[in-house]
Amino acid sequence: MPHPDYLQFISLVKEFKALGAAGAVLSWDQETYMPAKGAEIRADQLAVISGLAHEKLVSPQIGDLLIRLEKAPGLSQVEQVNIREIRRIFNRERKIPKELIQDFAKTQSLAHEAWASARTNNDFGTFAPWLEKLVNMRKKMAVLIGGNDPYDVLMDEFEPSARAADIQPIFEALRKELVPLVAKIAASSKKPSPLSGHYPVEKQRDFGIEVANAMGFDFDAGRLDLSAHPFCTSFGPNDVRITTRYNEKNFASALFGIMHEAGHGLYEQALETQHACTPLAEPVSMGIHESQSRLWENMIGRSRPFWNHFYPKLQANFPETLNQVPLETFFRSINIVRPSLIRVEADEVTYNLHILLRFELEHALFSGKASVNDLPELWNRKMEEYLGIRPKNDSEGVLQDIHWSMGSFGYFPTYALGNLYAAQFFAAAKREMPDLDQKIREGDLRPLREWLRDKIHRHGMTWHASELCQRATGETLNAQYFSTYLKSKFEELYEI
Ligand code: MG
Repeated sequence: MPHPDYLQFISLVKEFKALGAAGAVLSWDQETYMPAKGAEIRADQLAVISGLAHEKLVSPQIGDLLIRLEKAPGLSQVEQVNIREIRRIFNRERKIPKELIQDFAKTQSLAHEAWASARTNNDFGTFAPWLEKLVNMRKKMAVLIGGNDPYDVLMDEFEPSARAADIQPIFEALRKELVPLVAKIAASSKKPSPLSGHYPVEKQRDFGIEVANAMGFDFDAGRLDLSAHPFCTSFGPNDVRITTRYNEKNFASALFGIMHEAGHGLYEQALETQHACTPLAEPVSMGIHESQSRLWENMIGRSRPFWNHFYPKLQANFPETLNQVPLETFFRSINIVRPSLIRVEADEVTYNLHILLRFELEHALFSGKASVNDLPELWNRKMEEYLGIRPKNDSEGVLQDIHWSMGSFGYFPTYALGNLYAAQFFAAAKREMPDLDQKIREGDLRPLREWLRDKIHRHGMTWHASELCQRATGETLNAQYFSTYLKSKFEELYEI
């Protein structure tokens, strides 16, 4: 029988989590179906909800219960995890006044709308004051929470315990491997050409749903909708929403978006329903989350074994465009490496350079080495330095991502961490299941999904990322797996 204090504690935690989920529903709606004029009232609604959630979390009741439970003997592991994690966010949130939280939520919504129209009109100037406001609010929050590097305080929200000082050398080493690899590929005589043709939206959607089903995404516990920027959000393990966008000239944009978001969705759906609305049934970090999406999108979705089974099905959806295209030509076309301006459409080799750029700009912003108005020029200069190309305008440069418009600073590094974790997990899964490639060739994605569920998903927040990785693979994060994966794949493809 659980401790009576624990029962009271967990029912308060569930009320707090319910408010968070209600806010997530409103945000999902804002991105998918809300008419443009709804923005202002939606901002007010989200501000009220986030204020209530904050009050609920930092209430004296939860504070007292935490103190009592931390001294209580004989708690189960489940109970200890939930107490530990609520303590962690309680300590963060109680240092920030409710007014600042509400003000921030409202600014987030309005800044997001300002960003969307600035991006459409290619006008950084109209977004800059909003970005400035968000940066200042985040700086204020970081100071209130405390810590040596304000950027570490921000990252902690997405990647508990991550530090810029630890990440910087990993990213540096990565850059030293990537820049020459990009150069060697550019110099290769192999020049695969992109696919052309027409891909009707309905067929793209059908095929995307077929693949998501094969991955194990449960459409009785999830939905696929349309949004400007693909994302996955969860209101609980039995209600997980993913989105994509369609381009009739290029099926890859929507399909790999769906595989990516369904990879996130599988993680959310596999969290244990018996612990729903408690930290135990929450993803451990955004880096681990992203490892799931990138593993499915790239290591599966852009692999030969996967297309061995799925290419005939894709051809059946687009016979006029693809029936004359051999599998090998198709495979090379979805693995073209070419420096490009837009992160979400970048190939596997150049992708992390986009992240390094963002990480460096954010870190400069929060350590006072750059201001908001410096960003467009810094962005363009680093693009030239790392990828050899320069955006023609800010819409394809500094305005392209949604993250800063929502005040999510410190999030970007988790994308690169996700790639590194993905390669390490995939290598471990292959070691344990020598016939894994063969299963994938037959279209059987279940063994991989079950391995991920068993080693990663079902544990929720039981252990933080580093220990989870150690338990799943036998060692903590080791970037060598990613380098080995990239080199073996692309040296073969580009004959270098
Ligand atoms: Mg993602």
